[in-house]
Amino acid sequence: MDYYGTHIRKLIEEFSKLPGIGAKTAQRLAFYMVNQPEEAAERFSKAIIEAKKNTRYCIKCCTITDGELCQICRSEKRDQSTVMVVEESKDLVAYERTKQYTGLYHVLHGAISPMLGIGPNDIRVKELLTRIGAEDIQEVILATNSTVEGEATAVYISKILKPFEIKVSRIANGVPVGGDLEYVDEITLLRALEGRKIL
Ligand SMILES: [Zn+2]
Repeated sequence: MDYYGTHIRKLIEEFSKLPGIGAKTAQRLAFYMVNQPEEAAERFSKAIIEAKKNTRYCIKCCTITDGELCQICRSEKRDQSTVMVVEESKDLVAYERTKQYTGLYHVLHGAISPMLGIGPNDIRVKELLTRIGAEDIQEVILATNSTVEGEATAVYISKILKPFEIKVSRIANGVPVGGDLEYVDEITLLRALEGRKIL
């Protein structure tokens, strides 16, 4: 039933498509927005459009950024011989917050999941292989999540990196099983990194 009229209904629909937003929250957000001054609504919609327009993926590490190369790939201070492979850009941010890791990253944008039909070609594995061939990389640290998918991805990548004869390591079990890297505290992340095992 269209109790609130078409426009509000459409807005509620859009909010309810967002991750983690249920029907009730979508309704609350929609009412909040329409009760704001028009400038606030314009600012909000403009922020979404501008972010969308200006967001791209770093041509090297594939993280979300607004230039051709991200800040980390542009920096000469970073150790160019080490690449940490993570699932999402937010995991990169989590490791950056520790301020201890000085190498480069590679963002896969997902993990291999046969259950969900996500294979190696659906994530940025090819891009990683291209980098191994083109850059002077000595070590690849597999820092995918400790979930079934994250482990499967780490195993897969370690296998395809074998012929390159470079050091490949996997972060330690410091990250709780099933844990999303984003929510793990910095000390745990550092311990996982320091305790990494060579594969
Ligand atoms: Zn980058």
